[in-house]
Amino acid sequence: MGRYLGPVCRLCRAEGVKLFLKGDRCFTPKCAIERRAYRPGQHGQQRKKLTAYAIRLREKQKLRRIYGLMESQFSNSFRRAARMKGMTGEHLLSLLERRLDNVVFRLGLASSRNQARQLVSYRHFLVNGKSVNIPSFLVRPGDRVMLRETSRTSPQLQANIEAAKTKRVPSWMQVDFEKLEGEILSIPTRPEIDVTIQEHLIVEYYSKL
Ligand code: SF4
Repeated sequence: MGRYLGPVCRLCRAEGVKLFLKGDRCFTPKCAIERRAYRPGQHGQQRKKLTAYAIRLREKQKLRRIYGLMESQFSNSFRRAARMKGMTGEHLLSLLERRLDNVVFRLGLASSRNQARQLVSYRHFLVNGKSVNIPSFLVRPGDRVMLRETSRTSPQLQANIEAAKTKRVPSWMQVDFEKLEGEILSIPTRPEIDVTIQEHLIVEYYSKL
């Protein structure tokens, strides 16, 4: 299955919660959830009781959509998390957070994860001085993510940098706006991951398959 290219606000409305897929717009009254807080489609305003399976499925879909992954990428991440010692749900979130596109977004250098993925694919970023154009690249503690020298004059990136100066970065990374560089300080833990998801439901979803 290919990547979803339709209107992303529809995904939030389908899940009934804000997934924050559109950057700054998500914090304004223009947000579709603020204006039409019901499911899209002809029967969107009807109430539907979800089964136990559907609740778990929806939680998995929410997380997958937040990080903008395809089904196969998401299940690969889950399998990897399941092989790690400890809480699978927390490992899954940590793996998703460590993706390079998410790191660029968390550093504030992209307005959304979608935009971050595109910027990474266009080789605007270096990791430890080497060009990396793989959005799923996993960063490790000590890694330095830097905006490429030749990309610094791009009007879009200039605007992102100015906006980033007003945002807070998570405690597992730090940003240096002089060098336009972010450093990964540690592996993100659950309390440091700002995502409203009940990850145990996702673990249960996969355990029932
Ligand atoms: Fe979701 Fe953001 Fe669209 Fe609101 S503006 S519906 S939070 S993507």
